[in-house]
Amino acid sequence: MTSFPDPVARLIDEFRKLPGIGSKSAQRLVFHLIARPGDDIRSLAAAITDLEEGIRPCRTCHQITDIDPCAICIDPGRDHSVICVVERPSDVLAVEGSAEFRGLYHVLHGVLNPLAGIGPESLTIESLEQRLAPGTVHEVILATNAGVEGEATASYLARRLAAGNLRITRPAQGMPAGSELEYTDRLTLARALRGRRTMD
Ligand SMILES: [Zn+2]
Repeated sequence: MTSFPDPVARLIDEFRKLPGIGSKSAQRLVFHLIARPGDDIRSLAAAITDLEEGIRPCRTCHQITDIDPCAICIDPGRDHSVICVVERPSDVLAVEGSAEFRGLYHVLHGVLNPLAGIGPESLTIESLEQRLAPGTVHEVILATNAGVEGEATASYLARRLAAGNLRITRPAQGMPAGSELEYTDRLTLARALRGRRTMD
C-alpha cells in the first residue's frame, strides 16, 4: 500500500476503517472516485463534512438529528407516555422499521461494560430519569440487545428506574445485537415488541 501516492493511501486507510470494507474494496472505491469528475468528489466531501457539522444528539432522546429536539420528540401524533430505550441510534431506525411502535425513544449510546470502563455515568441514564420525573410516562420498554451486556443493562435500568406506577417492560427477545440488526426482519422485531413482558 505504500506504493500508492499519499492522498490515495490515506483515503484507502480511511475507507478501511468502515464496517464491511476490506483493503480490496477500499482500493476499488478510491480508484472509482479518482475516475469521477471533480464535482462528484467535491460533493461527496461536502456531504461528509456536513455530517459532522449538521448532526447533533437530540437534547431530549439523544438520537442523532439535524434539528433539536428531533422530529420524533416533537411529534404530537406520537404516544408521549411510552419510551423505548435502545443502545444505538441505528436501533431507533430498526424499531421504526417494524412499524409496531408509536411512542418516543431514548438512546443510551452504549451498554454497561465494567471491563471496558463503561459505567452508568457514561450512558444517558440521568437524562432518562429526568424525562421520567414528571410522571407523565407510564411505560419504559428496555430494548437493549439480547447479549450479556444488553441483558445486564436492562436489569440495572429496571432496578434503578422502578418507581410507583411506571411499567417497565422488555421485548420478548431483546434487540438483536449490532450488525445482526439489519438482517433481522421487521416481523421478528414487531413480534418481540408486541410480546414484551413486564420485568420484575
Ligand atoms: Zn429526540
